[in-house]
Amino acid sequence: MKIIWAPWRMAYIKNARKPRGCIFCLKVREQRDSDNLLLHRGQHGFIMMNLFPYNSGHLMVAPYAHVKTLDALPADGALDLIRMTNLSLRVLRAEIRPEGFNVGMNLGRVSGAGIEGHVHLHIVPRWNGDTNFMPLFSETRVIPEHLRATYRKLRAGFRLAMRQEAGKLRQGSGRRPKRTKLPL
Ligand SMILES: [Zn+2]
Repeated sequence: MKIIWAPWRMAYIKNARKPRGCIFCLKVREQRDSDNLLLHRGQHGFIMMNLFPYNSGHLMVAPYAHVKTLDALPADGALDLIRMTNLSLRVLRAEIRPEGFNVGMNLGRVSGAGIEGHVHLHIVPRWNGDTNFMPLFSETRVIPEHLRATYRKLRAGFRLAMRQEAGKLRQGSGRRPKRTKLPL
């Protein structure tokens, strides 16, 4: 993987005055999903946008449980992370049409985990040549608007995907009427 130049991350590194406690736990508790760029609440976890993205549409999927590693989650919790990852891939494909993705987790500080106490999975959309256009987003005043616009687009995409999924479930569970033979 080529390293993406993401200059706004310097602001993140420089202003590393970390809020007390865990930002994942905090943002889920706050119930201010739009302000916090939280896109989707699932059964065992949630999906939010990264405030300091490596690329447009950089999402993070995290469990509600404050645990350090994937293997600390019960099986259904771990499975739900994968389900939400798949949901994210579908929504990102539909809404912002990436040509590829980097998907992965950093476990432990030494691996580069920014928030090491709460396991989370990164989904970074990729486009051919994105390392070249990324500097376009480097002006700090542009970024929040850019993030907000992407948030609105993706939020609508997640809602649509959930409605479609609910529709499929209803169809699947509905008992088919028995075919009755018509008297000849
Ligand atoms: Zn936490």
